Amino acid sequence: MFTDGKYMKIQFSDLTYNAISNLNSFNTAINKNKSKEVVYFNSSRENKLPFSVPLSYYQVYLPNFTARTPRTCSSDNIELQEKSGDFKIAQFNNITCPSCGKKMMNNDKFIEITNELSQTDNDNYLEVLKKYKKYMRPVEESVFNEIYELSQKKGESKDIRTLLVSLRDKKLPILQNAQMRQVKKMTALSKTLPPDERMVLQGKIKKLKQHIKKTNAEAPFRRKILIDRISKIKIRNPQQYQKLQNIAKNFPTSYDMNSAWIVKYSGKHKQTEDWTSFEIAQRFLSSSVANTDHIIAYNIENNHDDISNYIAMHNACNSQKSNKPFIHWLYEDKINRTKFLQDYFDEAGSVIQQNINDKKYKNYVSLAVETINKAAKGKINLKNNFDL
Ligand SMILES: [Zn+2]
Repeated sequence: MFTDGKYMKIQFSDLTYNAISNLNSFNTAINKNKSKEVVYFNSSRENKLPFSVPLSYYQVYLPNFTARTPRTCSSDNIELQEKSGDFKIAQFNNITCPSCGKKMMNNDKFIEITNELSQTDNDNYLEVLKKYKKYMRPVEESVFNEIYELSQKKGESKDIRTLLVSLRDKKLPILQNAQMRQVKKMTALSKTLPPDERMVLQGKIKKLKQHIKKTNAEAPFRRKILIDRISKIKIRNPQQYQKLQNIAKNFPTSYDMNSAWIVKYSGKHKQTEDWTSFEIAQRFLSSSVANTDHIIAYNIENNHDDISNYIAMHNACNSQKSNKPFIHWLYEDKINRTKFLQDYFDEAGSVIQQNINDKKYKNYVSLAVETINKAAKGKINLKNNFDL
């Protein structure tokens, strides 16, 4: 969040499209937060909105706001603006995600499914979700299959939260072991560092170990905090620094590990409240909403922020890709993403041909394919199958 002239710019990471388009609920959210020093909405959870949608397409401008003096706002002083990342391909449904090969959904589809869930009893969430399995990313699909199978057994609950809680004791040690493997790598690295740096890193490792050992559901899933603390350590040697970054990045998370997912959502958020079955049901698909990523990680220096560098991706796959070099991402985790990429471009090309009447998009496939082939340094050769 930052001020931009007389506007306070608020970036919505997961406030709903619905909430923003429906200014009544948006006002309610603003009013609820009036007492806070700074108005911000990073989490729909805090605003008690009915849905949680990862939304990266819009920024909301609140005229006459300054960063520290929030006021009530009404429909006539809110204006929606498209971000540069308002990339049309991410607004279509059913295109292959170039990162994981499953289908991406758009916000409208996610809201439609959320509405369907909200009209369904807890015990039938699994049946609703089953219809949308093609959109689930690999980790969500593996958790879904596991609890669905369990729910079919005689005498088992059909409630998502109950099922996850019943698996927690089995999954927690698996997660802890995976986390400890990264800790061991860190410890080995720390021994190669000069004494001052070694002391700092080993101090952090000690704290990290204590945290990993915690087993109670109240211990929030602190992966982000753990990683942040460690990756901020100053290490002078660039190779050793990079090594530490890589270890930190490879910490198992609910984005990529079945056990981490189950431990997280069978636990509590903000140390107090359980994740509800409804929230967990949403979570199976909320990470599958498409948003826009840069093929070559965007930074101010390369200034590569145009359509030739855009690619749509599941929002969680996008977070995972982060700012990794393209070539590293391409073969990461022994996945060969060549086929996913080709499928993505073939489907994107077809969507453009049939639905997008914007000149800028006519060259999208050929430009982006060229960006990728260059970035892959000859290791892959994607085809542009569209002459638009
Ligand atoms: Zn994906």
